[in-house]
Amino acid sequence: MDFQQIFNDSPEVWASAPGRVNLLGEHTDYNDGFVLPTAIPQQTTVYIGISPNPRHHFYSVELAAQVDVAPNNPVSSGFGRYIFGCIQVLEKLGHKVPPLNVLVTSTVPIGSGLSSSAALEIATLKALRSLLELDLDPVQLAQLGQQAEIEYAGVQCGIMDQMAASLADTKHLLFLDTRTLERQLLPLPAESEILVIDSGIPRTLADSGYNQRRAECEAAAQILKVPALRDVTDVKQVETLPSPLQQRARHVITENNRVLEASKGVSAQRFGELMNASHQSLRDDYEVSVAGLDHLVDLLQNTPAVWGARLTGAGFGGACVALVKQGEANTIGQTVLKQYNADHQTEYQGRMLVPDEL
Ligand code: ADP
Ligand code: MG
Repeated sequence: MDFQQIFNDSPEVWASAPGRVNLLGEHTDYNDGFVLPTAIPQQTTVYIGISPNPRHHFYSVELAAQVDVAPNNPVSSGFGRYIFGCIQVLEKLGHKVPPLNVLVTSTVPIGSGLSSSAALEIATLKALRSLLELDLDPVQLAQLGQQAEIEYAGVQCGIMDQMAASLADTKHLLFLDTRTLERQLLPLPAESEILVIDSGIPRTLADSGYNQRRAECEAAAQILKVPALRDVTDVKQVETLPSPLQQRARHVITENNRVLEASKGVSAQRFGELMNASHQSLRDDYEVSVAGLDHLVDLLQNTPAVWGARLTGAGFGGACVALVKQGEANTIGQTVLKQYNADHQTEYQGRMLVPDEL
């Protein structure tokens, strides 16, 4: 389905933004910490034209769904909230947005932790920027996308996803300080490439678990009398905290230190060790892993030519990321999935997300 078929018209503008996978720095962005994501090859593209009537019309090819809304009537559920949110944050800045026809098409897996939501927001905002000839830089786009997701989709997200969708590319790691938004594009470790596998485990506990962890981090920062856990660099400082705040804070501090070490430029082997340590910390201190994810990570870590592996995203299900020898990702992914899917036949099935399944 293309724009012409849906709206019987041609689009005026279009823009794309990629999904992302986070290599290191998990659950650090809402603690003002450091992250190290990269863009994945899959992208979302948003086409925009002017609506011939007073309503907005949004169509998603992947969801085969259409939403029609009056410009002054907020969308309460579904994918329309993200697009409507992007329009609203621009209107709040004083930009007048006419009623629109919007078509979304995407190859980013939806709801697998590769941030299809930020890809949608950034592609929408970029397209709106062209349509309205706005002067907005990539950081402003990311901030507006985050604001749209928080205020209109009701997701208390950090800034990492939108910064990655706006500024990352597939050839580099985006080293980002989520407090200052200072950033640097760094090369991937030599001789390495990225493998992402979806565990197939539904992220049923993800929302409540995420909110609880955020609250625990805030409580830990308050006891330690710092604005955010980012301000604690010595892990010894958390020893006075009660459990589980102690473990949660320790994860954030050691994870920030891992990102900082990796950002200095380390070998693929050392980078992999940092990823393995990150998984252990997410499993034991942050307690956001589940048995199936641990199993998938184990299989990856025990495969030759894998430098390191860990769960990626908020946890409780979702995807795992591995850094592997260049040229090996496809074969490793297929081998590991064969075993994983045989072991979990009756529960869930994994699938390869990067490199893309053909
Ligand atoms: P993730 O960002 O990890 O993929 P989220 O739950 O944050 O998962 O965002 C997924 C939501 O974003 C979808 O439920 C949908 O509302 C919206 N979305 C993302 N991509 C698309 C798309 N191509 N078409 C329509 N909606 C999309
Ligand atoms: Mg998302």
